[in-house]
Amino acid sequence: MKSPNFYASGGLDRAAHLRADDNWIAEQLSSRETRIVPLWRTQNFLRHGPSPEVAVLESSRGLLMGAEMVVFLGLIDGRPHFAADFSGYDDPPLEEHGHFRDMRGVGQLLPHQEGALLVYARAAVQWHARHRFCGLCGSPTESRQCGHMRQCTNPDCATQLFPRLDPAVIMLVHDGGDRLILGRQRNWAPGQHSVLAGFVESGESLEDAVAREVFEEAGVRITDIHYHSSQPWPFPSSIMLGFSATATDMTLHVDRDELEDAAWFTRDQLLNSPEDDSFRLPRKDSISRRLIEDWMRGEI
Ligand SMILES: [Zn+2]
Repeated sequence: MKSPNFYASGGLDRAAHLRADDNWIAEQLSSRETRIVPLWRTQNFLRHGPSPEVAVLESSRGLLMGAEMVVFLGLIDGRPHFAADFSGYDDPPLEEHGHFRDMRGVGQLLPHQEGALLVYARAAVQWHARHRFCGLCGSPTESRQCGHMRQCTNPDCATQLFPRLDPAVIMLVHDGGDRLILGRQRNWAPGQHSVLAGFVESGESLEDAVAREVFEEAGVRITDIHYHSSQPWPFPSSIMLGFSATATDMTLHVDRDELEDAAWFTRDQLLNSPEDDSFRLPRKDSISRRLIEDWMRGEI
């Protein structure tokens, strides 16, 4: 079995059967065994210090009084972990313990399992901020099951909302030999390149979406579409589904509305990537990077 991608398999037992057990949840929230993962406006909490280090806090009544939302994440080595949202504070709180940072900047510098826990907490809290009102009747919704469901407060409606994921396919397209396609979008950091990707649409299989996106963005038909692996990408709620495929012709017709550019690159070019504003590989915590590295090792 392949090793998990970054942000996947965080060593967490989600213990879903405990979410709706209000008595158990209340007991855990007042237990000193319980760990709190703080968030403030989508930023995660890190210790003060020269290199990024995750900060989880011991649960206490005083700490949780300042939280506007608590979500039960699960158990790690038997210890309950909760995300707590402190976004109600105008300025970042808890300064004596650490500081808040955006995981999109520091995630790749954290140990794999801790990174996974933090992006899960981020996604869980952010879902609530985006679903405060019922999409059917417009009434406010309320958190249930310790943050894993929201319910419309209008008794005639009472619609239940559950966190949804946005599936996206991401695919390494090669020529069956020494070359693969990389592209870049205008708003990316200078030199940044990636394999192609796009969201799955209703009524499509994953394979349909892979073929459509490659043709839309690069104008190339593909064959031999194979699943590789997946990666949670909760910025805010994607799941990346990784594939490889072989191009059936080499001529690219790049859609300049979607991409600034796309082109064929050789293994040598990637091995000698200057990692500067002229060309750089995808960030280390991305499945795009994983696909490229596996292909360079001959595993795709
Ligand atoms: Zn409603």
